[in-house]
Parts: sequence; structure tokens; C-alpha cells
Amino acid sequence: MPRVAFQRLCHLYSRMEESYLLAAREIGLSCTDCPDNCCTSYFQHHTRVEWAYFIKGLNQVHEHLRQRITMRAESYIQQAQLEMSQGRTPDIMCPVNEDGMCTLYAHRLMICRLHGVPNVHIRPDGKTFQFPGCFRAQKKTGSADPLSRLDRTPFYRELAALEKAFVGPRIARFPRVRLTLAEMIVQGPPKMSV
Ligand code: SF4
Repeated sequence: MPRVAFQRLCHLYSRMEESYLLAAREIGLSCTDCPDNCCTSYFQHHTRVEWAYFIKGLNQVHEHLRQRITMRAESYIQQAQLEMSQGRTPDIMCPVNEDGMCTLYAHRLMICRLHGVPNVHIRPDGKTFQFPGCFRAQKKTGSADPLSRLDRTPFYRELAALEKAFVGPRIARFPRVRLTLAEMIVQGPPKMSV
């Protein structure tokens, strides 16, 4: 089952990347020479299928790299807890990043693939959320509402369906996933039983 789920996830990731490239091209957005690094953004992730696929990638890298990532993940968790206890949103480099580059690029999670361009998400209850994109995207689009935003809705739906298939019929009994990548790294692969 994981093999099929991971294949479907890779296919979904490819389509996300295609949509991202189209949306970026449309507004002339490029990450080249950007003074910022999105990998310091604070994100939580919500699916076991992405979590398991990421850990699979982590287990394939050289042991020394894996140790460095794990040590940085431990310190990320402590620092993030401290910053949040002081009322701040953590702004800490992702433990997977070395010298400004993602060391697990092929296994990075959905949000790493969609962040940056202006986008929209329509929830099942019909509520719409719009995001203006990164600071560079906002400079490109100015105050104008970009006509074409990357629509995350079909991707979220498909990921939710994939998560259901991956976890199985008892999914409702599982606790909700709400973890940073650092927490996923330190916890290891998701538990697949309740
Ligand atoms: S997984 Fe990779 S792309 Fe995503 S935040 Fe970490 S370093 Fe950046």
C-alpha cells in the first residue's frame, strides 16, 4: 500500500509544481537571487502520507546528513517552543536546509511546493481564503488582485483523499496531525495504528 500511495503522492506533487510554475511565470516571479528564504517560514503539516514519504526520503540519505538534520530538528523544536512562549511566530531555518538549499528536495512537503505565488483555497463549507504570495510576488502584482491565482483546492482535496486511502477506514479514530517538519523528523515515521 505505501508504494501505491507514494506513487500517487509523487504524481500529485508533480502537478502542484506545474501549477506553481505556470502561476509564477504569469506574474514574472523567480526565486533567483532572492534575499529572503522561505524555508524559515513556520508551517505545520497535516497528513500521515506526506509525513511517511518524507521520512522514507530521510532514511535514504547518508547517515551523517541524517544525523545533522535530526540534531537541527531537536534544536528547532526547543527554539520554536521558546519563541511561541514569548508570543512570537517562530522564524527559524528548516532543519533540512543546508547552505540555503533543501537537502531533501524530492521529498519536501506540499506547502514547500506551493508557497510563494498568490493563491486561493475554497474550503468544503464554501469559505474562501486568499493569500497574496511572498513579498516578491506582492511586489510583482502590486495592490492589484491577480486575476489568476493558483487554486490549491483540488490539490487539498486530492491529498485528503490520498490520506484517507493511506490511513484506511479507521482514519476518524486517529488523532489529527498538526506537526512541524522538525517534530515529524524527531518522532520518526507516523504510527499507523490507534
Ligand atoms: S523541506 Fe526543504 S523546501 Fe521545505 S522548508 Fe525545509 S528546506 Fe525548505
